[in-house]
Amino acid sequence: MRIDVHTHISPDRIAAPVLEGMTETFGYPAVGINTVDGIKSHMKASGVDKSVVLGVVDRVEHVQVANDWLITIQDDMLVPFGAIHPEMENMAGEARRLREAGIKGIKLHPMMNKFYPDDPKMFPLYEELGEDMVLEIHSGRFNHTKPGETIYSPPNRIMNMIRQFPKMKVVALHLGGFYMLDEAERELIGKSNVLIDTTWPPALKELGSDTLTNIVNKHGPDKVCFGTDFPLADMAKDSQFIESLSIPDAAKERMLGENFRELVGL
Ligand SMILES: [Zn+2]
Repeated sequence: MRIDVHTHISPDRIAAPVLEGMTETFGYPAVGINTVDGIKSHMKASGVDKSVVLGVVDRVEHVQVANDWLITIQDDMLVPFGAIHPEMENMAGEARRLREAGIKGIKLHPMMNKFYPDDPKMFPLYEELGEDMVLEIHSGRFNHTKPGETIYSPPNRIMNMIRQFPKMKVVALHLGGFYMLDEAERELIGKSNVLIDTTWPPALKELGSDTLTNIVNKHGPDKVCFGTDFPLADMAKDSQFIESLSIPDAAKERMLGENFRELVGL
């Protein structure tokens, strides 16, 4: 089973402006349409069976309405993860509401929402996630982060969070450190209790085969999941790049879906 663990779509009526904002902020061109229909046709064309749709909000007052929508799009192809904002009064309560509605995990975005993942104010949320709900968390910086700007989710802070909640199911996105791979290799790659995903827009191949193969081998292919950041990267091209690596076929299949299927119980 092929699973893209990292995608972003929106309700039809706001999808176009959201996409414009995304491509402007990050500087990557869109490869598809960021709606339910748009992602499903991209998945079918790319041979992807399921996509994890990650909820991201910049303002706390948008959390509930975003999650209400994510709850409604669950089906055979889409596995939505809820949004949580650090300024919510009851993060744990929202996580509980999501679980009761069938949602399997949440997304945290420390760079966008400006908080440290190892801040004790987050701990009640992590307690609530327990040993079943998955946390996907942005790791590293943005490509457009300037020197001197605060990096809220460097690999060492992600690991500091994990050390305090070793049973939490965590996927550190962007190979554990977007545009911070040296630090990721020092602090996170090869460590226990953490999976990573391969999301690296605009194209995974920009990393180069040697760099990606080294990271996969060092962390262990049983702990690496395929992700893209659709609509900012192409599912077919990124999965083909993984297939082209000089690692065993069984390891590629695990990365392209089985690891995540087991983690979540899909
Ligand atoms: Zn993303």
